[in-house]
Amino acid sequence: MIVALLNQKGGVGKTTTTINLGRALARLGRRVLLIDIDEQAALTFHFLGDDGEQLASLYDVIGSHASTTMTEAIVMTEVAGIWVMPANDDLALLSSDLVVAGVGRESRLAKELAKSAGDYDDVLIDCPPSLNLLTVNALVAAHQVLIITEPELYSGRGVGKLLDTIDSVREQLNPLIAVAGVLINKYDAGIDIHVRRAVEIREQLTAGDPPITVMPTIVPRWTTVMRTTDAGADVADFGHPAARKLLGFYAEIARTLLDPSVPALVEETVR
Ligand code: ADP
Ligand code: MG
Repeated sequence: MIVALLNQKGGVGKTTTTINLGRALARLGRRVLLIDIDEQAALTFHFLGDDGEQLASLYDVIGSHASTTMTEAIVMTEVAGIWVMPANDDLALLSSDLVVAGVGRESRLAKELAKSAGDYDDVLIDCPPSLNLLTVNALVAAHQVLIITEPELYSGRGVGKLLDTIDSVREQLNPLIAVAGVLINKYDAGIDIHVRRAVEIREQLTAGDPPITVMPTIVPRWTTVMRTTDAGADVADFGHPAARKLLGFYAEIARTLLDPSVPALVEETVR
């Protein structure tokens, strides 16, 4: 499956979720390609450290002066089962490059990925915090979209705008794109607003036309999550009970993505 992790807001946890879902899928024995299309390159840094920014990015693969193929640019990481298509700040150039590129500019990633995707069981695309042409390229390349949201920042209009964008991509560029669901991240059960928002999100989206799935598993706002993204660490290396719970949550989300027909083990993970 090819999944784009999406929200036009920064800081909601797209990169964190891409990393941890990727690791969860790899733990299931799957071959996972993570594509970083954010010029901030946080995912690239997580897996490849400072060396990552020296590597070829999507700019070198699908920009107007492309000099390499995606197959050549993909890097094996130290984590078994995980490969990364790196990003660096050249992606800012790629965005403006695509604006003037004309016909086919929305499907360059899809076209290039089609040549490599067969080497992997799963491809996750970590999107930038905007609805630019790179994000549209991700939506054209993907089979599914996972929208990441925070219970604090939630605004019906924000997610509504994303759903509109996905609809127009479906109509014009990629009839196969489906919304896998909305994942609530950074949830704090001790904050009454979070509890209310989580209920509201579920009510509004599942009552929508068409109804949108809200992932049964919610990811809590825990320092263990924060420690891993920036430090290049794996939650699995933290032995404490919270870390083990987190691994369970991400495994559950991975399972739901792979087969939505299997009911979730945990109906309401955090109370
Ligand atoms: P985005 O990619 O959407 O901009 P990030 O994944 O970079 O967001 O997350 C932004 C910040 O929030 C990072 O410092 C990350 O460690 C932290 N973060 C993300 N998810 C959680 C969580 N569930 N609990 C605690 N911190 C989190
Ligand atoms: Mg990010």
